[in-house]
Amino acid sequence: MESVYENIEETDEKVGAFLTLNKEDALAAAREADEKGIDPDNVLSGLPVGIKDNISTKGVRTTAASKMLEDFVPVYDATVVEKLKQAGMISVGKLNMDEFAMGGSTENSALKITRNPWDLSKVPGGSSGGSAAAVAAGQVPVSLGSDTGGSIRQPASFTGLVGMKPTYGRVSRFGLIAFGSSLDQIGPFTRTVKDNALVLNAISGTDDRDGTSYRGETPDFTEGIDKGVKGLRIGVPKEYFHEDAKETEIVESVRKALDMYKKMGAEIVEVSLPHSKYGIPAYYIIASSEASSNLQRFDGIRYGYRSENIGSLEDIYVKSRSEGFGLEVKRRIMLGTFSLSSGFYDAHFKKAAQARTLIRQDFEKAFEDVDVLVAPTTTSTAFEIGGKIDDPLAMYMADVLTVPVNLAGVPSLSIPCGFSEDLPVGMQIIGKHFDEQTIYRAAYAYE
Ligand code: GLN
Repeated sequence: MESVYENIEETDEKVGAFLTLNKEDALAAAREADEKGIDPDNVLSGLPVGIKDNISTKGVRTTAASKMLEDFVPVYDATVVEKLKQAGMISVGKLNMDEFAMGGSTENSALKITRNPWDLSKVPGGSSGGSAAAVAAGQVPVSLGSDTGGSIRQPASFTGLVGMKPTYGRVSRFGLIAFGSSLDQIGPFTRTVKDNALVLNAISGTDDRDGTSYRGETPDFTEGIDKGVKGLRIGVPKEYFHEDAKETEIVESVRKALDMYKKMGAEIVEVSLPHSKYGIPAYYIIASSEASSNLQRFDGIRYGYRSENIGSLEDIYVKSRSEGFGLEVKRRIMLGTFSLSSGFYDAHFKKAAQARTLIRQDFEKAFEDVDVLVAPTTTSTAFEIGGKIDDPLAMYMADVLTVPVNLAGVPSLSIPCGFSEDLPVGMQIIGKHFDEQTIYRAAYAYE
């Protein structure tokens, strides 16, 4: 654990992945683990882990990378943090992100910039950019992120990692600072597929403190992981190989992976997800609407930032929120409030909800015929820091391949599948609801 911190102190000056380090607690936990001895039945015990800063950690500052929560210290652990502790993992600190998980580059953090360890002039992706950068830089072997519209898979793809967005309901959201509650899921970043399955084992399960938590069984995600892909039917959604995949090397890398699957005995089948084109508008309306509601709690009274120059009660609300939230968060609150307001609800929110149903039905239909779907995770590799930050629409459009999965609630894993101009390329393996096992099996065979 001492060497973990030495390494972080040395490398994080350049990478900037961590917002908070809890060194004393971690060293104490490591000492305790030394005394007890490593638990041979628990492969994760004693290992360091980093946590995205929108996941509540008892006694350790949790900011969601917002000025609003810059000094916020929670009094309880999120369920996932409790579960990692039970598995013997030791949290070393909290990781940078886009403010309230809104963004795709970590540049929306109100607190610092995080750089891509592969090329420090590039973004690590987002919103879980700190979580990805920390594992890619070798600071920790595992981290947790959250994925509302791609925020685990896109940064995993930009940094050459394995990143899982589990089925909605698989992992408890208790203690996750809510963004789009019907879309949010927590999941692991790792270097290898098997490590990823092991961590998902540890964090999954029914939780009475989350009303949307899945009440069914949690399987062992490593079981049958080495069965291979012989006889597996792999769907290739044609809409995901479209012209927005500007960097043809991305499409080529995924096609090469598909050839490999074919050689290993899988059957490759073209499928169609015709409503994918409504993914971006539906997602940005639904996610922003839910966010505008979730963020009402930051009112300058209960907790978080309060403006200094207050004359009236209204001042507390208006000034605290005006000063505490960043530009992108305000943009989403306005978009969401507008979409939900009477007179516009039917034209926007309701339409988006209908499009969401069509998107979910596309996946259901495709999965009648195939076991998993394979597609690129993103339409570009990691881009230049500052490259898109002034063009919110371009930033939104970049999520075109990840948001349909969240709208449908299905699981999807991004794994590295090559390089384009020396930067990692990712492909996603999308599965049926609650069938992460088959995803891991297909990913393991490729790896
Ligand atoms: N980039 C998307 C957004 O800005 C996804 C974010 C996320 O998954 N948290 O909303």
